[in-house]
Amino acid sequence: MAKINENYLKLPGSYLFQTISKKVAEYSASNPDKKIIKLGIGDVTKPLPDAVIKALHKSVDEMACQETFRGYAPDLGYKFLREAIVETDFIARGCKIEADEIFVSDGAKSDSASIQEIFSEESKIAVCDPVYPVYVDSNVMAGRSGNYKQESQTFEKIIYMPCCEENGFAPEFPDQVPDLIYLCFPNNPTGAVISKDQLQRWVDWARKNSSIIIYDAAYEAYISSSGIAHSIYECDGARECAIELHSFSKNAGFTGLRLGYTVIPKNLKVDGVSLHSLWARRHGTKYNGAPYIIQRAGEAVYTKEGQAQVKDLVSYYMNNASYILSGLKKAGFDVSGGQDAPYIWLKTPDHMTSWDFFDYLLDKVGIVGTPGSGFGPHGEGYFRLTAFGTYENTVEAIDRIVNCLD
Ligand code: PLP
Repeated sequence: MAKINENYLKLPGSYLFQTISKKVAEYSASNPDKKIIKLGIGDVTKPLPDAVIKALHKSVDEMACQETFRGYAPDLGYKFLREAIVETDFIARGCKIEADEIFVSDGAKSDSASIQEIFSEESKIAVCDPVYPVYVDSNVMAGRSGNYKQESQTFEKIIYMPCCEENGFAPEFPDQVPDLIYLCFPNNPTGAVISKDQLQRWVDWARKNSSIIIYDAAYEAYISSSGIAHSIYECDGARECAIELHSFSKNAGFTGLRLGYTVIPKNLKVDGVSLHSLWARRHGTKYNGAPYIIQRAGEAVYTKEGQAQVKDLVSYYMNNASYILSGLKKAGFDVSGGQDAPYIWLKTPDHMTSWDFFDYLLDKVGIVGTPGSGFGPHGEGYFRLTAFGTYENTVEAIDRIVNCLD
């Protein structure tokens, strides 16, 4: 008789964004004439950069010719892309990463969910609270949960590191030593960053405790302040304790194309076993390579033209972030993030719960954001807005919120 993986039953409720979609659909059905503006989900709205479009057309044409047609891509990615990545994202920043330490994939979500597979089921993991839900859910699915503690909304075997106003939304070293530590800066959902010195302290702490850091750098393109690392490999010793995840979604608008990569240094070992070899084995078994045309599109991101266009896209969204930040500040909201990140994290007014504020904004002004409590217990009383809308919608949304509270 077939039996299900009972770990799935431990996941509390449906995924955050499904709940939001359901509420928005219900609202639209009963208010068909109201324009809803979505600043909730972190999806981009601007079209792909021109350099990417040109590369896509060219590579599609190559697929139509006998001489240039390509079948299965190499498991770990085409060399042309891995070399372009290494040159710009690492060597230019003084990081010692080689092309064969890059694993090209279909994005950071799948890699961030799957990377736990190469570690023991017994591993204890530490996550920020609030957190990108994929880290927790994927570990719960894999059996690393214990019981769900309803009252604190936490799993007994997962260590939660509170990120709140008091610590500047930066996690502190936990009392228990975890085996795996998930860190993400610039952070989703809080929009917080930590300095390179703070990140160095995490690297030192992980090495001292033989822990592995899984560093999610999906938003590194949004860093403009100095003293913040774009990659954990800018820190001394990170090659001995860190795996890094990257995405083409938020810098170059690939949310619909799908492309990302994971870095695993060859010398990174646990109990003498190379994590690079384990991930190569896993990747080769479960994944047949990102499509050729998409990898060519990714390569175009690293051309001079592509880099300039990506910079423009990031500036466009960061201009939205500034509008949201200054508008909400003027209206008296307590806001953070939005400086080196496309997310704005605001305290709900009048001690409303996150979901009450969600319902209030949707009902009063037709604006959709994301309730902070959906990202973990320390997200309660907070709300996330994203800068990924169009400028026009962002302005209209913030003006509606500010006017409604006047
Ligand atoms: N990591 C973080 C922290 C994210 O916020 C997201 C998407 O929102 C991802 C990874 C997923 O990126 P991708 O589109 O490359 O799967």
